[in-house]
Amino acid sequence: MNTLSDRIARVLRQDVQSMHAYAVQPSAGFVKLDAMENPFPLPPALQHALGERLGRVAMHRYPAGRVDDLRAALAHHAGLPDDCALMLGNGSDELISLLAMACDVPGATLLAPVPGFVMYAMSAQLQGLRFVGVPLTPDFELDEAAMLAAIERHQPALVYLAYPNNPTGNLWNDEVIERIIQAAPGLVVMDEAYQPFAARDSMARLARWPHVLVMRTMSKFGLAGVRIGYLMGRRELVAEVDKLRPPYNISVLNAEAALFALEHADEYARQAATIRAERERLLAALADMPGVRAYPSEANMILTRVPDAAAAFAGMKRQGVLVKNVSALHPLLDNCLRLTVGTPDENRLMLQALKASL
Ligand code: PMP
Repeated sequence: MNTLSDRIARVLRQDVQSMHAYAVQPSAGFVKLDAMENPFPLPPALQHALGERLGRVAMHRYPAGRVDDLRAALAHHAGLPDDCALMLGNGSDELISLLAMACDVPGATLLAPVPGFVMYAMSAQLQGLRFVGVPLTPDFELDEAAMLAAIERHQPALVYLAYPNNPTGNLWNDEVIERIIQAAPGLVVMDEAYQPFAARDSMARLARWPHVLVMRTMSKFGLAGVRIGYLMGRRELVAEVDKLRPPYNISVLNAEAALFALEHADEYARQAATIRAERERLLAALADMPGVRAYPSEANMILTRVPDAAAAFAGMKRQGVLVKNVSALHPLLDNCLRLTVGTPDENRLMLQALKASL
């Protein structure tokens, strides 16, 4: 690999030069159960209809009207209250960056339970905010006393609560969440990336709390490749964050594909129902596997502790099944694999491969 010349290295950020890029493991040819994607492609008849629609998109113009249509359709889909607004990001990853940018005042802190989604800490680091990670309990519940003490001590500008959480897959106690929201001096973002698979959501919190934002994505709905995330909250608050959004951040093709998907929301709802049923089937099968502990999930992933995660991961990979070994992310995740729920066939292969690799 070429190294940077001194001249270039001098002008680039030192902290960025010592960072690792966000790594995506190669997956071609594998049963891909590593990234919480919806395993079901669009049915062929709808693929054809989408192709027709995309062919008519005005690609010679900058995105405008159709992006507004998408905001309105998502607001309707989510049941957005009247005094709230919705902004779009190129995936919720972009919204996470913009929120860190919005809170970048001297000495600002971003606080989140850990283990959690890695982009919260990454966004803080890149934006010059301090990141405070508060460990979950060994059962992956919020540690209420530790969270409240950390909020009191660090006065965070931004608190993230992923509901359900990644990589643990669970929903946290709602009363504890309410007390955390009450104590937080800044913004609280309920990250609902996995909402299509969960029994509860946070929309009612938008009406109760002016400092709460709800962030969602179309990625887990079935459009991970399309890159549409959305952030909802009181109008005046969303308007401030929206000022930081790069112009035209949503492509016309992405907006049209997302609108098409929302018109066929019933198809996606059926897929989500299948995924939830498969999750329950997998949980039951994992409970019967000696030496394996699967944690409760309200998402399309199951955190699973095995005797030797590195060996199980490698064994499954040799059998063509790709999952995620999350052991190194946090001490609480020692020997844990994160298994994405796939199609019934994929799940059967995954269980076989896991059993043979223990
Ligand atoms: N939030 C959570 C909790 C996630 O797990 C992920 C992705 N895995 C995201 C946000 C980002 O989703 P996207 O950028 O695809 O919208």
